[in-house]
Amino acid sequence: MPTIGLLRDARFHDHDTTPNHPERPARLEAIETLLDDSGLSAACVALDARPVLEEELLRVHDRTLLDLLIRTDAQIQANKDVDQAARVFLDPDTVMSRHSWLAAQLAAGGIVDAGRRVADHDLDGAFCLPRPPGHHATPSQAMGFCLINHVAIAAADLLATSRAERIAIVDFDVHHGNGTQDIFYDEARVLYCSTHQFPHYPGTGLLEETGAGDATGTTLNLPLPESCGDAQYFRCFDEVILPAVQRFRPSVVFVSAGFDAHWRDPLAAQQVSGTGYRGIAERIAASARDLGAGVIYLLEGGYDLEGIAWAARHCLDVQLGNPAIDDPVGPAPQPGPEIGSLLQRARQIHGLPELPEPRSAHG
Ligand SMILES: [Zn+2]
Repeated sequence: MPTIGLLRDARFHDHDTTPNHPERPARLEAIETLLDDSGLSAACVALDARPVLEEELLRVHDRTLLDLLIRTDAQIQANKDVDQAARVFLDPDTVMSRHSWLAAQLAAGGIVDAGRRVADHDLDGAFCLPRPPGHHATPSQAMGFCLINHVAIAAADLLATSRAERIAIVDFDVHHGNGTQDIFYDEARVLYCSTHQFPHYPGTGLLEETGAGDATGTTLNLPLPESCGDAQYFRCFDEVILPAVQRFRPSVVFVSAGFDAHWRDPLAAQQVSGTGYRGIAERIAASARDLGAGVIYLLEGGYDLEGIAWAARHCLDVQLGNPAIDDPVGPAPQPGPEIGSLLQRARQIHGLPELPEPRSAHG
């Protein structure tokens, strides 16, 4: 049985957004309760959080962002220039309160350590449940519920400490990970691949955004129309993303695992089911196995509590080598759009070989 690390911490729950904010502590409660009740937590190695070091954070973020976060946290702790609930809004969606900065630092540090242990083959894989999420945080800006970019900090650490020469980041959150893309846009050692609903927040992630300079080709975006479900997502992975990952030959794969492409998610309009997430996770696992690469999952978005709990459970089941189980939340209501021409264009843009002609239905 593979050795999988599980990063969770009560202090990630303490990040208080606002009473009606979708990015709320109940998300972690739902996932952790299901993982506990199903025995999956006990099957994992418990990982510890620790505050990210300034040096680790500054590999991907500007000093100006760090200073803003420190200054805002100090205001909150001193209860100056803050609202009654001691909250400060960095943008209309992104809020800091009394425990937010500590939670973000602990999450990033914990994910750095999880990444190191997987890269060092001390663990076969890891599953991390941070709050706040990270993939929208750019070098200079906290946004989209995110303060700092955990996956980017952890990936940059593996490069800086010579634990990995090439890293893939697969981001299946329904929103484009604009922050992660920005951070690694000119970094040839990181392949960033994203499936996301388009047009949708934050508005980036066009097919034609492929990286800069000698990193051209190491950003791979699949901007998807609404209503894509399991079948469409499987094709994205089978026909474009995983062939590109195989060609890139990373030794570590991070998964920015937002579960907001789930059909029940209130913030988006995709149709992926819980067992669809299992199918995606199986594909990532098979690709990583071929490469001898470890896989580190970290939670990004996902706002339907039952949907995200089961999606997370299916992904961790795959990591642990557990058999497939039924999903009580059920399948998506409709079959989804045709995306063959989008995938073909993506293959052309990224220089992936032509696929064999599909066999005729009559032949
Ligand atoms: Zn999202």
